[in-house]
Amino acid sequence: MKKFIYLLVLVLFACQAKKKENANMVSVSILPQKYLVDQISGGLVRVNVLVMPGSSPHNYEVLPSQMKALAQSKIWLQIGLLTFEDAWKVKMAEINKNLVIANTSEGILPIAGREHEGSSREHAEAFDPHVWLAPAEVKIMAGNILKNLTLAFPENAPVFTANYSRFILKIDSLSEQIAQELKPLKTREILIFHPALAYYARQYGLEQIPLELDGKEPSPKYMKEIVDLAHAKNIHVVFIQKEFDPAFARQLSIEIGGEVVIIDPLDVKWEKQMLDITHKIAAQR
Ligand SMILES: [Zn+2]
Repeated sequence: MKKFIYLLVLVLFACQAKKKENANMVSVSILPQKYLVDQISGGLVRVNVLVMPGSSPHNYEVLPSQMKALAQSKIWLQIGLLTFEDAWKVKMAEINKNLVIANTSEGILPIAGREHEGSSREHAEAFDPHVWLAPAEVKIMAGNILKNLTLAFPENAPVFTANYSRFILKIDSLSEQIAQELKPLKTREILIFHPALAYYARQYGLEQIPLELDGKEPSPKYMKEIVDLAHAKNIHVVFIQKEFDPAFARQLSIEIGGEVVIIDPLDVKWEKQMLDITHKIAAQR
């Protein structure tokens, strides 16, 4: 009987009208990953993105429609460091036993996630998940994406490999451009509400100073410390991601006589966004 039910479930799955159409579907956690997959696949795979624009990828809740698309995907290319990915890994393995769950951060030296949103112990992200905001880490992620796409769709291996090689060259030149632009910068500190630039700062020798501590709004005491530091280091810009409440950033900018600058680390146009972030940091002088 058990075997029969199992077969029935298999048949039902096979009969899903959409199945053929979605035979080349892969899921990713966040929008910038779609950019990376598109670069390597050249459009040969359909990409389902889980975290919608305007949402935070920390402790995200997957929508029912996305769950269906995820259940029909061949692979879920995870960042590998986001809390919601861990929670859904178990559920998805039950729903779709054939789903390959891949960690695209494999091989990256992770930065401890102590000062990060959701790190109030039980919801801790053990490591900072913002790996996609540093070209050096994205090269590693691209290699992991290539490996997994090739395993899932071996017939397209030559195309994927050629696209990957081209993309790596593009990342190298992007990274060189960023390094050149940051070189003359006197202010080496980045004052930012939500600490998304740890890997970027590590790659380019900058120091990230977050306003948010352990995912919480800054205390008056901590705000004062930051104001003093900003005066001492001559910092006049407070960066904030567009999905966060700018109240604290605005207050701080007034106290340091500076301005709030908005960045969008979840932008699907990854290369353009990396340059945009760099231009804005470099404009600090
Ligand atoms: Zn974040």
